[in-house]
Amino acid sequence: MAIISHPDTLARRGVMFILSSPSGAGKTTISRMLLDADDELKLSVSVTTRPPRPGEVEGVHYHFVDDDEFDRLVEEDDFYEWAPVFGYRYGTPKGRIRAALKDGQDFLFDIDWQGTQQLYQKDQQDVVRVFILPPSLPELRRRLEARQTDSIEVIESRMERARAEISHWDAYDYVVINDDVDACFAKVREILQAERMKRQRQTGLIPFVRELMG
Ligand code: 5GP
Repeated sequence: MAIISHPDTLARRGVMFILSSPSGAGKTTISRMLLDADDELKLSVSVTTRPPRPGEVEGVHYHFVDDDEFDRLVEEDDFYEWAPVFGYRYGTPKGRIRAALKDGQDFLFDIDWQGTQQLYQKDQQDVVRVFILPPSLPELRRRLEARQTDSIEVIESRMERARAEISHWDAYDYVVINDDVDACFAKVREILQAERMKRQRQTGLIPFVRELMG
């Protein structure tokens, strides 16, 4: 009798899992929770010209570079996408992403709507776009103030940008309201699990079903 391999171990393409939201809506927290809970998911660490915030670690939160280095990376076509945000530049390095996706590695992208659009144009097959909304704008402001990392001016500009970011909500596949962080995390995780099971992603299905049918 043929031994049928366990369906959970079937080969599949990795997911490019994008999380976007206005800053303060909880995206970074949800990203951390996902990465902690899920060994199959790896963060795509962006490159930025923004200086590190207290507690941010080179290579973990971002690769921090100066303007000249960023220019060089753009020139050498090292980015999947890049965009200006709050007067700094942010980019997704190509690295080994494409090859790793083929091997079933999932990547998490914490990027804005501009980067999402560019990634989606390049790779509609693998990209899953999730947008996290705050329950209200006053609550968003309260969360930004509670972080105590930004000046009043920066908070004002983040609030303004939040409205602009939210206006792009309809360019996403999924929208989750972050009223309660644990509930939001659970929903985002379900989206990831379901996307992994998509038929088109499961490259191992054809041989599996052939074996199953005998
Ligand atoms: P922050 O400075 O608060 O870490 O990030 C500011 C914004 O830049 C966030 O909306 C974040 O999602 C976005 N961002 C971070 N990395 C990238 C990237 O590689 N590409 C793009 N397009 N946006 C990014």
